[in-house]
Amino acid sequence: MMNPHEEILKKFQAVSENPHAYAKSAKERTGKKILGFFCSYMPEELVHAAGAIPFRIFGTVGDIELAESHLQSYCCSLVRGGLEDALRGRLDFLDGTVFPHTCDSIQRLSDIWRLNAGFAIHIDAVLPVKLDTPSARQYMIDVLAGFRSDLEKALNIEITDNDIAGAIALYNRIRSGLLALYRLRSEKPDVIPKSGVYHAMRAAMVMDREALAKDLGILLDALENAPAVTSDTGRKRVMLSGGICSHPDIYGIIKEAGGDVVWDDLCTGVRYADGAIDTSEEPLAAIADRYIRRVTCPAKHMSSTARGEHLASAVRSQKIDGVVFLLLKFCDPHAFDYPYLKEYLDRQRIPSMLLEIEEQPPPEGQLRTRFETFIDML
Ligand code: SF4
Ligand code: SF4
Repeated sequence: MMNPHEEILKKFQAVSENPHAYAKSAKERTGKKILGFFCSYMPEELVHAAGAIPFRIFGTVGDIELAESHLQSYCCSLVRGGLEDALRGRLDFLDGTVFPHTCDSIQRLSDIWRLNAGFAIHIDAVLPVKLDTPSARQYMIDVLAGFRSDLEKALNIEITDNDIAGAIALYNRIRSGLLALYRLRSEKPDVIPKSGVYHAMRAAMVMDREALAKDLGILLDALENAPAVTSDTGRKRVMLSGGICSHPDIYGIIKEAGGDVVWDDLCTGVRYADGAIDTSEEPLAAIADRYIRRVTCPAKHMSSTARGEHLASAVRSQKIDGVVFLLLKFCDPHAFDYPYLKEYLDRQRIPSMLLEIEEQPPPEGQLRTRFETFIDML
């Protein structure tokens, strides 16, 4: 018989491996509307406050054919895969989609999606790109107020300040729970199966957030009280850095090559969970402040050294031996960021390697050899 926490890990894995099936059944079960999104700069708290479930679109696992007639082949696979799923009807459970201002590809996808995907609700939440200017905060608050009113009109509801405060409290619980999971794995890498955190993160971007928060709490209690697991595995401590990672096998391959993935800087990882929202502030201002304070993605601008400083600081605090950059093919923001980050790490003598990924990862044997070579030299 499985322990409750094993059941929860299995549930997270099932959601992560088949998010569409989860969303369909959650919609039938709860009657809630489901709004899709592509990026961690989508203000999920407001969607939850509106009584809907935010659903992260991860891109397709199948061939891309229909999307090719709308997008250039040099768009990233996340954008092409998301459109392919929409055009094939695989996202029919969605009531609509929200596009924040991210990279050029997402901006263009928003227009194509509006004209071709056929969802009733389509909202652009154009958050500022530069986050360190004097006007960025007020601009962001105004955009959030506009988004709140767009949601009210689209869903024919009223979103009260209390609704938003409740959503903020829930998201604070979820984000601190996800980071606690990261810290536990960092302290004792074997406390959770190798891709357990990966699946938990993806489930966290899809599940009904009340149910998620409850499951996460049970999982953390069980793991914190789990029988002693050694903190010294004898393997090298590795951090992943990049945008989206859709390849759970990477965690096992790195382990077999002699490393443990103990931390990351991914948009489907720590960057999603980073930063609590201040509950003593006015709610929209508090959400804006979190976006300004949290670790930035390369599609947003803080100081020119913010991302390098963040990486180096994570390397120090998590005692990382080496960084693996996962670069999704045709992702311009990360591709432009990489040379500077590599140089920044080199100057601090932090070893790193670059792995370019597509929808399908490179063959396992080739990956193992590359990771073994990197880990051997750490
Ligand atoms: S890397 Fe950042 S900006 Fe790009 S899609 Fe992911 S969350 Fe959005
Ligand atoms: S930031 Fe990169 S991965 Fe994310 S949508 Fe843009 S090009 Fe694609």
